[in-house]
Amino acid sequence: MAPVLVKDVRKQFGATKVLHGVDVSISDGEFVVLVGPSGCGKSTLLRMIAGLENITSGEISIGGRVVNNMPPKERDIAMVFQNYALYPHMTVRDNMAFSLKLKNAPQEEIDKRVKPAAEILGLVPYLDRYPRQLSGGQRQRVAMGRAIVRDPQVFLFDEPLSNLDAKLRVAMRTEIKELHQRLKTTTVYVTHDQIEAMTMADKIVVMHDGIVEQIGAPLDLYDNPVNTFVAGFIGSPA
Ligand code: ADP
Ligand code: MG
Repeated sequence: MAPVLVKDVRKQFGATKVLHGVDVSISDGEFVVLVGPSGCGKSTLLRMIAGLENITSGEISIGGRVVNNMPPKERDIAMVFQNYALYPHMTVRDNMAFSLKLKNAPQEEIDKRVKPAAEILGLVPYLDRYPRQLSGGQRQRVAMGRAIVRDPQVFLFDEPLSNLDAKLRVAMRTEIKELHQRLKTTTVYVTHDQIEAMTMADKIVVMHDGIVEQIGAPLDLYDNPVNTFVAGFIGSPA
């Protein structure tokens, strides 16, 4: 079970305050989308959940354990970024297996994990190719494959589709949702794209200038925005 709780979390870079007390409660298995304009603090919050950024104050817990001072590799999370960050000199198979090899997993276990992940993502025919021999969508699937093989309690996505063309972006939304329905892994997904948020989220967290404006199901926000910012951002007429 992996709920994620963010309690009164604040973040300051030097004298600059970028998060002013954020509270978000994510249930086990939920697909939550953090949405808001560029610069509002989405990536910073996600990176704090991942352990890539210190928390100035407040508390984050994953699966009931406070993780404030826990290094990333001890948190049971896997993160997918927008720029994929695949290793160019490694095949798809080795890219997917990399984190398991780092942990000295036996080859048998590596195969047992890479194969089903490749099947889910339609990557079986490409396992021996290199990233440069793949399309943008295939590379993004490899990045997701790397996260899946780790079988984490929580997936963290930071604008994973923003480098893809519009048509592929729409197709990949569906793929990611199908993946979630299959694995039921708790997911925190960051985007600045309202339509992506509306179509993918169980629950949307609308952020603006370092605060949470509103949290709710997509239709809740659309029908009952708490203020003009949310109304304008989500696109409802209020
Ligand atoms: P978003 O992902 O919503 O676009 P970010 O979380 O990346 O926003 O950034 C929020 C704010 O924090 C921005 O004003 C950004 O310039 C600032 N910021 C992010 N990282 C750093 C850093 N390492 N040092 C200083 N300021 C930062
Ligand atoms: Mg960002």
